[in-house]
Formats: sequence, structure tokens, C-alpha cells
Amino acid sequence: MPLNMNNIRSQFPALNQKVYGKQLVYLDNAATTLKPQCVIDEIKRYYSEENSNIHRGAHYLSQVATEAYENARHHVASYLNARLHSEILFVRGTTEGINLVASSLGRAFVKKGDEVLISALEHHSNIVPWQMMCEQRGATLRVIPMLDNGSLDLSQLDTLINEKTKILAITHISNALGIINPLKDIIDFAHSRNVPVLVDGAQGIVHTSVDVQQLDCDFYCFSGHKIYGPMGIGVVYGKQELLEQMPPWQGGGEMIKDVSFEKTTYNDLPFKFEAGTPNVAGVLGLKKALELIQSTGMEAIRQHEDHLLDYATEQLMQVPDIKIFGTHPKKTGVISFLSGEIHPYDLGVLLDKMGVAVRTGHHCAQPLMERFGIPGTVRASFAMYTTTDEIDIFIQSLHKAIDMLK
Ligand code: PMP
Repeated sequence: MPLNMNNIRSQFPALNQKVYGKQLVYLDNAATTLKPQCVIDEIKRYYSEENSNIHRGAHYLSQVATEAYENARHHVASYLNARLHSEILFVRGTTEGINLVASSLGRAFVKKGDEVLISALEHHSNIVPWQMMCEQRGATLRVIPMLDNGSLDLSQLDTLINEKTKILAITHISNALGIINPLKDIIDFAHSRNVPVLVDGAQGIVHTSVDVQQLDCDFYCFSGHKIYGPMGIGVVYGKQELLEQMPPWQGGGEMIKDVSFEKTTYNDLPFKFEAGTPNVAGVLGLKKALELIQSTGMEAIRQHEDHLLDYATEQLMQVPDIKIFGTHPKKTGVISFLSGEIHPYDLGVLLDKMGVAVRTGHHCAQPLMERFGIPGTVRASFAMYTTTDEIDIFIQSLHKAIDMLK
């Protein structure tokens, strides 16, 4: 069933505003999505009513908040179809999640001469933590190259994965191009060589249903704020058998069983990886965001966003001198382009003055831009509340901006 756009849009108060006297057209959803009223209300409710520290208080509010927090963990586990709720770790976001895994897995399994494999499509968050870990452990970072259409050259996997490879870290969907990686095939291949796989799901979780057992990924990381939830909260799904072998990442309260000055014993999963006071409001807000997606239906959202991408691509191709980056047909949610020799930043600034919010630049994927030999692109990215009318305004504004800059 098609989405009820009036109903959906009415739930996102930030949509209903003008910038520079123009109706806002928000097309920067890959950077962060707007927040629905249910998420905003939940954060307010938590701080107005339940506010208390969790897991350690004997008092009423602490018990209520602890139960709500742990319920949300169960909810996320069932959303991802994780086998165990203790395989769900709450972190600040995708970036923190990947840093956690890189650092902890590095200390557990990576030694001098080993290798870590990533891809040419990665966001800096799925490059730099691995580089840092490789530097510390004396390992080498290797990269699956990209073809001109923005898809990965998977024919190279066979030679890139070898007995020294300790992990493959790969994005589900590219934030810069919208390309969807054939995750299942990649994971199956890596597993056939006994290599675990971390998936950067910052964009994947937003546009597709994720079943971690079906994918059989070893880690899946995502951020709440990209999926209509709050900023400052994110999730690491990790397979129990790996998380159990990995040392804690940060030390502090909550992650311990017993502490003496001589020795500390660590708590069980998931608490071993959740040192300190967590972002309880963020976790509760994230649960509301996931519930909204479930009640709206991921399949319907996906169809709507695919339609928006087809529509925007068709319209954009009518604009003279446009070059779209990422032309492989398996893509969603994002369209990245340049117009002739015009600098993307100049286009972005003019579009902004017309009320159209897009992102310009390298989108935290500098190596990818370098591969195309460009400094960056203009990126329009869509969400469940985006309409074709908004795309029309975007295209009209783009025509005007190009005329002004020619
Ligand atoms: N990976 C990808 C693919 C992303 O799009 C982003 C955010 N742009 C990140 C990682 C980092 O997410 P966060 O800043 O929320 O930690």
C-alpha cells in the first residue's frame, strides 16, 4: 500500500517551516533525518517523569527507567532479528560502534603482519578506526576497489581475502552514492574463508529491512539519528561468541563485576561494553523511531524511496550538463551529481537560499571522491516524508542556480 503522505508529514514538525521565507525542502536525510513527534515526546516524557540513573538504583524511578531501557534493548534485538538481546550494545552512533569493534577486536585477534579489508565505498568512520587499529597492531589495511559505476569490483575479493585477513568491514549502502552492496554474497564469501564481517549499517538500516541472522553478519552498526531517532545513540549488534572473546573497550562503572586495586573482573554481555551512564532518553527515543517504521512498514517506505530516486534521476537527467555519480542500478535513497564545471558548494549555497537543503562536498568519503577525480558532489537524499513535489521544487531551483552560475 502506498504511504499516506499527509499522515506521515504531519508527524514531523520540522518539515513545516520556512527558511529565508521559502518553504523548507529538506533533502539532507543521509546526514540526519528529521524527528517525528513521538520521538520528541518520548525524550520530554523521560526527562519530565522517569529521569534517573539505571541498573543501580533501588528506588522506584530507577527501576522503571531500567525496565524501559532493557525493554528497548529487546525491541532492537527483535527489530534486527538478533538471536539474543545481549548481542545488542548501545553506543553513541555508528562511529563509536565501529571504533569499539576495531579497538576491541584488534586487541583480541590482530597481530603484526595481519590484514584488515575494507572497501573503496567507505565513509571515513569505516576507514579511520581500522587505520588506527592497524597502526597499533602492525597490520595492513587493504581495499576492495570500485568500478566506474560506483559498485565494488568483487572479482578482486578472491585475492584480497587471504589467511592473514582478520576482518572485512564494509558498508551496507554508500552514503555518498546510494549504492547497495550485495551483502549476503560478500558475507558468505568472507565466511567461506573464515573471515568475520562488520557491516556499517548507518544508511542500510534506514532504507532496508535488516535481519542479522539471515545476513549472518558478525557485527552490524547503526546510528539512531539517521533512522528518525535521537542524536547521540547508536547500536552495535555483535555475535555473542565474538563479543565474549573481545576485551572491554572502555573501563568504568557498569561494565564491572568486582573492582579492587589489584584486579577487576568484568560484567557479562552486554554490560561489559557499556561503561558509564548510558543515554537512556536516546535509547527510549530510538525505540519510538523503530516503532514508527514498523507501523509504517519498511517495504512501503522502500518502495516510496525507490520511486523518489527514479523520479529524481529522470528529472535530473533532463538538466543540461549533469553528471550523476553512482550509476549502478542497485541503489537507493541518495543521488549524487555535478553540473559541468560548477563547484558543488556554489550550487549548494544557492539551493539553500531557495529553501532547498542538500549536502555538498566529499560526504566524509574522500578516497571515493579521489577515485572519481573530483573534490565532491551535490547530494540530495530522501526519506519517508519526501514528496515528488519537493523533488520538482529541487529541480526548478537547480535550473535557476545553474543559470545564475553559468
Ligand atoms: N557510515 C555511513 C555510511 C554514514 O553515512 C555515516 C554518517 N554520515 C556514518 C558511518 C557515521 O555515522 P555517525 O556520524 O552517526 O556516527
